[in-house]
Amino acid sequence: MNPIRVLQWGLGAMGSGMAKLMLEKSGLQIVAAVDSRPSYVGKDLGEVLGVGKTLGVTVTDKPEDVLKKENVDIVIIATTSWVKDQMSDLRKIITAGVNCISIAEEMADADAQSPELAKELDELAKKHGVSVLGTGVNPGFVLDLLVVTLTGGNHRVERIEASRVNDLSPYGPTVMKTQGVGTTPEAFKAGVADGSIVGHVGFPESIHMISEALGLGVDRIEQTREPIISKVYRETPHVKVEPGMVAGCAHIGVGYRGDKEVIRLIHPQQIHPHLENQDTGDYIHIYGLPEIHMAIKPEIAGGKATMGIAVNMIPHVVAATPGLKRMIDLPTPAALMGESAYTRRV
Ligand code: NAD
Repeated sequence: MNPIRVLQWGLGAMGSGMAKLMLEKSGLQIVAAVDSRPSYVGKDLGEVLGVGKTLGVTVTDKPEDVLKKENVDIVIIATTSWVKDQMSDLRKIITAGVNCISIAEEMADADAQSPELAKELDELAKKHGVSVLGTGVNPGFVLDLLVVTLTGGNHRVERIEASRVNDLSPYGPTVMKTQGVGTTPEAFKAGVADGSIVGHVGFPESIHMISEALGLGVDRIEQTREPIISKVYRETPHVKVEPGMVAGCAHIGVGYRGDKEVIRLIHPQQIHPHLENQDTGDYIHIYGLPEIHMAIKPEIAGGKATMGIAVNMIPHVVAATPGLKRMIDLPTPAALMGESAYTRRV
């Protein structure tokens, strides 16, 4: 089996973790790496990753130099959360004739908030014969694909409630900013009002995906965001939080069909929740026939699982029919532990 050739685009907290994971997989080969950070450009990828050896791949900030379909089967892009901000890079990847996996939260279901851009990506991907997937731990897995999969034996679903109580500590500065971690409560409220603090990015995408997969007919989504104010000092490599400052965001998204609530997603996210005795966990409740209650404790580790799911989906995206895909459109993700995992029938 020839290894699948991967270009890793974005070498931040997530992208560098994905690159390290791919080094462990015999079915995958990193052939190129792109990042705009001046301190990375021109260095060997092994040095940037700190893996103690050179890899023969030089990090570049000029994707056009390495984005050749003769040499690259797929790009994993881990640069931003927003479809709009990623569009110019996505256009470059697709028009080069290369498949793509993005972990931008809005790309999990670009139709949810950017239907025109989703249409453009779908048409462009079909024209160039490539597939493009948005994925990640959430959106992309815990609060959508896992929910959908759990209803697989249901006769009826009347209402869904799912919550993810998680630890933000492994994430990079992009996530800290969009969650308002390290701000004052006043700055948090102002940030929510002016749109600079968004909390979790992904409720419209997850709710849209669940509704589409089951045919629940959600026609309206409402969201609320409140600061989680820390009582203790908390710190990660990217942020320091004094008592009285914001350690995270308690975010709720609700999907309605007419006046009826059909999907409620609850996501209090903070750094180091254990410092205030808060356990992490993922909980899914399906009300209908049968009624289902699932609890995963602690949470499926967000950083690790985002790296994992993006890498594990590589063979499915390479094998997929052309177009823009969501996790509900492709085979179930599975860890790539041996040759058969790369050659499942799709
Ligand atoms: P990060 O800030 O640590 O890293 C981003 C990297 O991308 C940086 O190295 C930066 O230099 C590089 N970069 C940015 N724009 C670029 C461009 N146009 N071209 C080349 N390089 C560019 O962020 P992270 O923690 O690695 O996360 C990356 C993104 O993925 C974030 O927006 C985050 O919200 C998202 N994310 C999604 C999920 C999910 O479940 N879907 C999970 C984790 C992270």
